[in-house]
Amino acid sequence: MNQNLVELKGKDILIVDDTPDNLRVLSSILIARGCKVRKALSGKMTLTICQSTLPDVILLDVMMPSMDGYETCIALKADLRTSQIPVIFISALSDVMDKVKAFEVGGADYITKPFQVEEVAARIAHQLTIKQLTEELRRSNAELEQFASIVSHDLQSPLAGVVSLVEFMQQQYDGVLDRDGQDCLQEIAATGTRMSRLVRDLLNYSRINAKPLEFESVDCNKILEEARANLLYDLLSSGAKIVSGKLPAVEGDRTQLIQLFQNLIGNGIKFRRPGVTPEIQVSAIAKEGQWVMAVRDNGIGIPPEKRDRIFEVFQRLHSSEEYPGHGIGLTTCQKIVRRHGGNIWIESQTGEGTTFFFTLPSTIDN
Ligand code: ADP
Repeated sequence: MNQNLVELKGKDILIVDDTPDNLRVLSSILIARGCKVRKALSGKMTLTICQSTLPDVILLDVMMPSMDGYETCIALKADLRTSQIPVIFISALSDVMDKVKAFEVGGADYITKPFQVEEVAARIAHQLTIKQLTEELRRSNAELEQFASIVSHDLQSPLAGVVSLVEFMQQQYDGVLDRDGQDCLQEIAATGTRMSRLVRDLLNYSRINAKPLEFESVDCNKILEEARANLLYDLLSSGAKIVSGKLPAVEGDRTQLIQLFQNLIGNGIKFRRPGVTPEIQVSAIAKEGQWVMAVRDNGIGIPPEKRDRIFEVFQRLHSSEEYPGHGIGLTTCQKIVRRHGGNIWIESQTGEGTTFFFTLPSTIDN
């Protein structure tokens, strides 16, 4: 027996079935194992019961009048409060497609009737174990992110202090220090600036999940303008051009979308081919109720065998001597897109350029 499975004793199980006899059988089995059992005779009743106290697991019949098990599960998953409760379908329907549908609507497991008592108990314990581990993982991720955020936030001002003191010394002692002394100060200033950027990027990265999303209708043309303004120095120093047609409005968090555009366009400028003026094209097409956005550059491209790595944190394909950076930008982009319910992927030709595609939710007014 797996000693790590969560115990059923004391767990709050909600059984949903429109046939009272079925409810009785299942509930007596679970009560005998020390569970606290609540019962519902319909989908509607399930939603009402969940509003008072959330059960640990729901055992849900599929065939019920008016609101069937699938519809009930969809409603549970659509509500943020109830979406994390594992739903185990229990049904006499044994067709593969019925089972597949159960998983498609968000079910965690499917048991066919007639069931074995041991099997039901084991499957419930299994779902409770997964739920507990997921919660632990979420908690420890949140703690880690908070830790990174506090550390980088607290490092920001002393670092800025060091950088400005060094700049002050460079001005004040110009001509007093010998060549070695001046080189030393320059190196300290450059290292300090690099560290400040790293700290800023880490802080941005850790804030993505920490901050609650503020979804609103956002005009991507304005987002692009803001990203362009933030990249003014890179644009002017490289002579890069940004080309775009009319972009749509999307449903999203304004600050995070600016960051997303800025990182992708910034990379398009940074990873340019020597002697080639960077040109970044931004476009969008509507597809299946959402927007597929594309940021295309004419830079160095990414070799096929290395494409899987680029979204991982701190993964870089080049040294910082070749191209400055810390490998946080694309992880941040992926996190932002995923938080918006979308995907991000690339197409690239080595030596010709790269296109980053990502999906964003359409607004209601589009
Ligand atoms: P950074 O830019 O700080 O290195 P990123 O996470 O933004 O970090 O990118 C990770 C790596 O992916 C980069 O180091 C680079 O090797 C590669 N990369 C990202 N964007 C592009 C691009 N537009 N063209 C070519 N390579 C890219």
